[in-house]
Amino acid sequence: LPELPEVETIVRCLRRPLVSRRIVRAGLRPASLYRKGSLRVAALAARAIVGVERAGKNAVFRFDPPGVMVVNLGMTGQLVLHPACGCLPEAPRRHLHGRFALDDGTELRYYDARRFGFFFVTRESDVFAALGIGPDPFDADPRYLAGKLAGRDAAIKTLLLDQRILSGIGNIYADESLFDARIDPRRSGGSVVRRAEALLSSARRILASAIAHKGSTIRDYRRPDGSRGGFQHLHAVYGREGEPCVKCGAAIRKVVLGGRGTHFCPRCQC
Ligand SMILES: [Zn+2]
Repeated sequence: LPELPEVETIVRCLRRPLVSRRIVRAGLRPASLYRKGSLRVAALAARAIVGVERAGKNAVFRFDPPGVMVVNLGMTGQLVLHPACGCLPEAPRRHLHGRFALDDGTELRYYDARRFGFFFVTRESDVFAALGIGPDPFDADPRYLAGKLAGRDAAIKTLLLDQRILSGIGNIYADESLFDARIDPRRSGGSVVRRAEALLSSARRILASAIAHKGSTIRDYRRPDGSRGGFQHLHAVYGREGEPCVKCGAAIRKVVLGGRGTHFCPRCQC
């Protein structure tokens, strides 16, 4: 967490208030929050924000004069506009690590309790290339995905989490997409090459629905105004071990694949 739908929700919320604002002052610490090779955020002072986008699970801020800041929220990162709409329960101040003062008196803040997030400031405009990540499921071609799965012995679930293949999918949406596509998550990538198109369609359907419901709040994810997402109530398998499958009634199983808890229906998925 957060995955593609949560980051998409966040960038959509931040776009209108931030675009055309100018950075007055920027600070980030500790330095361990910078990805290797990143410029410092202070270099963004006096630049105007011209775009707020998403690349995979990353929020992307574009500037003029040209520059790019990528923010990956890790597990517990939160981007918050201060003061926002007044309904915001901000995280404790000790978790405040990034501050971007804007020319209208507001401030974009970055909170991160566990500090697994990262910042990457670069002059490189192709963020996907700079981060070494693949296209997200909305942009990927079925033949591209089939090519990446061909000959792979790793479990399809594990390959879906590999951001170098497809960006944006994490543990929740991998499990939900595989259920939607009726694919057993333990199958090898190579054994589902011919189902790549169906899998991609399922991933798009699940992600689009999650975006429409403003993401899934399991623990920490909040929208920038502090409210929760709503898609967690629509999970078919994730977090439902032992509960009946919504399609067939069989008990949802949980196994560990590639170190990640994986939920599936043993009857619907093969
Ligand atoms: Zn089932």
